[in-house]
Amino acid sequence: MAKKQYDYLVVGSGLFGATFAFVMAEKGKKVLVMEKRNHIGGNAYTETIDGINVHRYGPHIFHTSDKDVWAFVRRFAEFNNFVNSPLASYRGELWNLPFNMNTFYRLWGTATPEEAQKKLASQIAQLNIAEPKNLEEQALILVGPDVYERFVKGYTEKQWGRKCIDLPASIIKRLPCRFTFDNNYFTDRYQGVPIGGYTPMVEKMLKDVDVITGVDYFDCKEGDFYAKKTVYTGMIDRFFGYVYGKLQYRSLFFETKTINQPNYQGVAVINYTDRHAPYTRIIEHKHFEFGTQDRTVISFEYPAEWKEGMEPYYPIGDKRNTALYRRYADLARSRTDVIFGGRLGAYRYYDMDRVIRLALDLGKKELSNRGE
Ligand code: FAD
Ligand code: UDP
Repeated sequence: MAKKQYDYLVVGSGLFGATFAFVMAEKGKKVLVMEKRNHIGGNAYTETIDGINVHRYGPHIFHTSDKDVWAFVRRFAEFNNFVNSPLASYRGELWNLPFNMNTFYRLWGTATPEEAQKKLASQIAQLNIAEPKNLEEQALILVGPDVYERFVKGYTEKQWGRKCIDLPASIIKRLPCRFTFDNNYFTDRYQGVPIGGYTPMVEKMLKDVDVITGVDYFDCKEGDFYAKKTVYTGMIDRFFGYVYGKLQYRSLFFETKTINQPNYQGVAVINYTDRHAPYTRIIEHKHFEFGTQDRTVISFEYPAEWKEGMEPYYPIGDKRNTALYRRYADLARSRTDVIFGGRLGAYRYYDMDRVIRLALDLGKKELSNRGE
């Protein structure tokens, strides 16, 4: 292991760590990035299988309205014009997502936004929910019972392994519902996927940084490395030896296979929204980059309860975990030698553009604290 003196040790080579490392290295700081997996890129990592860039930790579509972030990522990669328009499969039928005029036309025969809004409003009015107490009630007053039963209930209960009535309303606020015939899942100004995948993009970000992979920070001993400050993007509860108890996470596992046909499902992502399919999504990776290969690679995405040793994909933002995280965040604030960041350090679901924005801001702050 390198025994150089570093200005910063960055634990984790995801987009938070890589962005911060780049910003500091660009200003001449010596940075070591330490990654426990055997590759860089965090959950955005892509690996090439049969000439297809496979999103190993789930489908990653870059979308942002933040001009600086968009300019920043394009220093390291050319982005294509992929637009995310996933489909929903419910009991063998295919439907458009997000919930939009195409969905409503098919459900209710409503041809205009006014008709669809009236229909939805009349369904919601009958529910008599004033203040939503849980995810089910929140979803019902957002999208009404027809959409909820087909596209939300089964998917959400599989995804979170809990009943919708036991989940916080906040999760569902991410669900877009709109009255246009627009199947673009996101509303951001900029969207795309880096041509060639995310891994080469992160490699370029880390070009002037020392990187070690396959090393867990907690397996290192005093004196293995020397850094003035640490930026830690792993699990915050693990950092503090779980002193207050364990935070909960939702995990996933992926079953990936190559198929000897050029086009399996004709779209990058299909959500399986009924309870019968054990997986939540099938991802066909070549469609992220308009691939024309003879073969195709698909992944079935299965949600799972997180246990030690599994990947902690999603923080669970219920009352217990939020309160527990606050206690760890108080401990974190008392550490002047360590900065906690990224989705695991902050125990928050962040999109990629958000972690990049936060890492850029942190870099700026660190440099200004040093008077640079
Ligand atoms: P991570 O990418 O998780 O990186 C943290 C790194 O730290 C990991 O590589 C980990 O191995 C390493 N690490 C942890 N502990 C240690 C340790 N003790 N020692 C050494 N290394 C350690 N965002 C979008 O914008 N668009 C999408 O379409 C999208 N789709 C997603 C789909 C799924 C299934 C998931 C789970 C997330 C998705 N995201 C998406 C979110 C995106 O993955 C995150 O915003 C991003 O990965 C966060 O980067 P990060 O650096 O904070 O964390
Ligand atoms: N969701 C759903 N049906 C869908 C897609 C999403 O009910 O077809 C719900 C589900 O509760 C999920 C949340 O919306 O947890 C957020 O989903 P999204 O796809 O926006 O986010 P991600 O899976 O990337 O976290």
